[in-house]
Amino acid sequence: MPTILLVEDEFTFAETLRYNLEREGYTVLSASDGIEGLELARRQPPNLIVLDIMLPRLDGFSFCRILRQESGVPIMMLTARHDEVDRIAGLELGADDYLGKPFSLGEFLARVRAILRRSELQPHPVGRTVLEAGALKVDTSRRRAWRDGSEVNFPQKEFDLLTCLMRNHGIALSRDLLLERVWGLDFTGDSRTVDVHIRWLREKIERDPAQPRYIQTVRGIGYRFEVPKDECSTSHCALS
Ligand code: CA
Repeated sequence: MPTILLVEDEFTFAETLRYNLEREGYTVLSASDGIEGLELARRQPPNLIVLDIMLPRLDGFSFCRILRQESGVPIMMLTARHDEVDRIAGLELGADDYLGKPFSLGEFLARVRAILRRSELQPHPVGRTVLEAGALKVDTSRRRAWRDGSEVNFPQKEFDLLTCLMRNHGIALSRDLLLERVWGLDFTGDSRTVDVHIRWLREKIERDPAQPRYIQTVRGIGYRFEVPKDECSTSHCALS
């Protein structure tokens, strides 16, 4: 039977989930904070991770971001925060499903079964690690990128910012959301940090950084990634 790693700091709630998962026959590993969860996931790779967002030491978003660079294991995020921003941010980081608290145990177990079934059909659930858009190609698992076939070297934050924008292509992302997703919740700088990194990104990916076509400025909000149709030289034209 599959092994499920449960990362949840509310003890009674975690025990309820564990009891019900074990009753279904799953092997359950549990961790009560993000760091412990990450260590456990590396030591005993599970078939599924059920991940709370608000966690001590390392929150669920950061957990997801770090683990996704190493593993394609399915992740189901649990949260008490219901707004759409969280939902987008969770999915953009590579979570496979998202369940808002409170939820019924029946729904939870049905989702667990569905995710495990999907990942069985896909023996290597590494997710989509290569993103292609126009003349750009980004391999997120190997952290390499190309423009017109030539490799471009991005520092870590620029790379993370670019992949965050590409994965949410067509959606305007606020500076605050980008700050949280790329720099983390603990970052103390302000949103001008995002603007500076966008400028550096444009210098590397845009044909004319003064007339950007991939990274559009959305007035009063932030930035949006678009795929310029006339820069598509291959069959892989648009992000899907
Ligand atoms: Ca929590």
